[in-house]
This record gives sequence, C-alpha cells and structure tokens, in this order.
Amino acid sequence: MALYRLIYVSQAIAGLNYADLKDIMNKSELNNRQAGITGMLSFGDSMFLQVLEGSRRVVSQTYNRILLDKRHTNAELIEFSEIEHRDFTIWSMKAVQLDNQPAIREIILKYSASSTFSPVSMTGKQSLSFLRELIDTYR
Ligand code: FAD
Repeated sequence: MALYRLIYVSQAIAGLNYADLKDIMNKSELNNRQAGITGMLSFGDSMFLQVLEGSRRVVSQTYNRILLDKRHTNAELIEFSEIEHRDFTIWSMKAVQLDNQPAIREIILKYSASSTFSPVSMTGKQSLSFLRELIDTYR
C-alpha cells in the first residue's frame, strides 16, 4: 500500500484554550491509531502545523474532517506527496505545544524571520525539517 504525507498549517480561533487542545489531542490519538495514521501536531503563537502519514484514503479522510473543525481556520496545504517510509512511526499523533524555552525558540528562529512561530511561510521541506528537529528536542 502506498504511503502519503500531508502537511498543513492553520490558525487557531481566538480564545482556544488548554481544554480544547487536550480534546484535539485525545481525539487525534484515538482516531489516528484506529486509522493507521502517524504524525505530529505542533501548536504555538496561535498557529498549528501538522503532518499526517498513512494511506492516501485515510489521510485524505482525516484532513477533510479536520478542515471542518471550527477550532481553527485559514488552513493552507503545504505538501501532499507519496513517501517511501514514515518519519513519525511511533506516534499516532504527537502533540507539542511550543513554549518560550530558549531551545524551542532557537529552532523556530532557524525556520522563520523572527522567533514567533510562523509556519505559513515555510516550504514543505522546511516544515518537515522543523518537525523532525522538534521530535529530537522532545524525545
Ligand atoms: P466528534 O468529536 O463527535 O466531533 C463531531 C464534530 O464536532 C466534528 O466536526 C468536530 O470538528 C466538531 N467538534 C468537536 N468538538 C468541538 C469543539 N469543542 N468545538 C468545535 N467543534 C467541535 N482528528 C483526528 O482524528 N486526527 C487528527 O490528526 C486531528 N488533528 C486535528 C488538528 C487540529 C488543528 C484540529 C483543530 C483538530 C484535529 N482533529 C483531528 C480533530 C478533528 O477535527 C475532529 O474534531 C475529530 O476527528 C472528530 O472526532 P469524532 O469523529 O470523534 O467526532
């Protein structure tokens, strides 16, 4: 079965709180495990950057469902491509909240014009490298 990777960026609605994030994380882990999806969701400075890996059908279905979610808006697809292998094998959805730790802000600065998380300006390659670096930091 061919594997696909989808990366998108979106903006959290004003007033999104920790309970919303917790709910998104719990739902994602449960649904993605059942669907055979792996990936990572990063959140910071009101922006989401998420990567989903799995079969084309389940990744598309999941993305279509995510797009309907009123807790975020202005979703932009960064990449959707066939891949040889998964990068996020051990997580059905690893969620990372980007805080003000210097190590995290340094990674953000490497991929943005400022230390404010702005994934909307990242290319597919940059966003994947960014997420891989985050994994190493949080592992
Ligand atoms: P329910 O939880 O019963 O939800 C039914 C509907 O209500 C859905 O349309 C849902 O979007 C909406 N909804 C539920 N709770 C709220 C709320 N508090 N406020 C507003 N609307 C609400 N889901 C995944 O399965 N995998 C993912 O990787 C994933 N990533 C996500 C990333 C982001 C940035 C966001 C915002 C959501 C993500 N979700 C993900 C959640 C997804 O959008 C759906 O909420 C979830 O998949 C629906 O789960 P369910 O089928 O159990 O339906």
